[in-house]
Amino acid sequence: MENIVSQQRDFFKSDKTKDCNFRIQQLKALKKVLKSNESLLTEAIYKDFKKSEFDCYTTELALLYSDINEACKKLKSWSKIKRVSTNLINFPAKSRIIPEPYGVSLIIGAWNYPYQLSFAPAIAAIAAGNTVILKPSEIPVNSSKAIKKIVNDNFKSNFFHVIEGGVQTTQQLLGLNFDKIFFTGSPKVGKIIYQAAAQHLTPVTLELGGKSPAIVCENSNIEVSAKRIVWGKFLNAGQTCIAPDYLLVHKNIKDKLISAIISEIERCNYSFANKNYVQIINEANMHRLVALLDKNKIIYGGDYDIYERYFAPTLMSDITFDDKVMQDEIFGPILPIIEFEKIEEISTKLKNLPKPLASYLFTGNKKQAHRLFNELSFGGGAVNDTIMHITNSKLPFGGVGNSGIGSYHGKSGFNEFTHYKSILKKSTCFEPNLKYSPYNEKKLKLARRIMG
Ligand code: NAD
Repeated sequence: MENIVSQQRDFFKSDKTKDCNFRIQQLKALKKVLKSNESLLTEAIYKDFKKSEFDCYTTELALLYSDINEACKKLKSWSKIKRVSTNLINFPAKSRIIPEPYGVSLIIGAWNYPYQLSFAPAIAAIAAGNTVILKPSEIPVNSSKAIKKIVNDNFKSNFFHVIEGGVQTTQQLLGLNFDKIFFTGSPKVGKIIYQAAAQHLTPVTLELGGKSPAIVCENSNIEVSAKRIVWGKFLNAGQTCIAPDYLLVHKNIKDKLISAIISEIERCNYSFANKNYVQIINEANMHRLVALLDKNKIIYGGDYDIYERYFAPTLMSDITFDDKVMQDEIFGPILPIIEFEKIEEISTKLKNLPKPLASYLFTGNKKQAHRLFNELSFGGGAVNDTIMHITNSKLPFGGVGNSGIGSYHGKSGFNEFTHYKSILKKSTCFEPNLKYSPYNEKKLKLARRIMG
């Protein structure tokens, strides 16, 4: 590990990664190897948790291709030195901001979208001119192997390299000195990463999780809301960081919404036989989810098969914030339903909970949406939809408070891996005496006038 880090540091010092053409060439090479290895990637992820070809393409690879296309098109303009105006006391001078890559970056991935969460930060790091050491999650074994093969067979280790491993490997890596660490995972491990990074004062991005609510108001379009909630919740069998974790629904439409949700679940056929419904990642997570079930509150689903790692879409009603299922991020296909009467009560309650990664509001009232989203703090979200905000690279994607630090995708990913260096370029042809000693009343008066 130490060797690879030091080789990457030497390569970074050669300034080759500062050349935008080099970055574009590497990103195009990455796209080419991803495309030519699509069947390897698809087979590996299917072995890990039965993720279908459709899901693998739409929720993993397509996002990477579009990130690469955008970075290749825009990185020259993102990397341009920016002119800004100069303040009066520096006259005559020019002011410039120079984007510079941090250097050697460490990217640590999570298991639920193994390709997207490994390669999307790597694309941002490369676009910004960094070298990359990538540690994918060890949990989807086959996907992790495929990532390693694709990268290590096609890129020089002094520029982009994959190191496989679990907790011990990550801790060894964290003992080394990186110029940037980008972590995706749980808030619990995020704190470990943040502490380790502090030893070297390394800047970090933490893409964490949390309990993201979906709030459905009385005046919402029930049919459309149900469809979008069901899709967002049961995509990847609920193992999505921005899945609606629980539902807050106005009591007057609760029954109608529940029956629309049930019809939609049945229409989608998330049965064991459905090739587009993924498994729970491992037995440990199956047991964790089973322990969240409250038999008295299940109104739909509740079936599971530990051996097949199948967990049916499950609705639990009459839930309160004190229930077990409401204590931690669910990260599985269980949807707790809490009813409310006044939106103001919801706002007060949510303000006292840890800030989630996402929030969703279903309403027909634009003012209500504006007011509530202004009041609440969360990473990002959508009005009348779930999850889809992640697909717009113009919207920075990341958490706040307990759900993370920093954001990425598109230009914000480039920013995350870039230090913006400020330079004041002074002329030597004019040298006012004001700032130099000795000082007097007249100088002070003038300083007050100029400096404000
Ligand atoms: P995790 O925190 O258990 O693991 C993430 C990474 O950290 C893995 O690579 C793992 O090897 C490493 N790791 C685990 N324990 C460690 C330790 N003690 N010391 C050092 N490294 C350690 O998370 P996970 O189970 O892979 O993913 C689920 C979590 O990730 C959920 O909370 C989810 O919301 C969150 N998540 C967030 C995003 C996002 O974009 N914000 C995306 C996906 C998942």
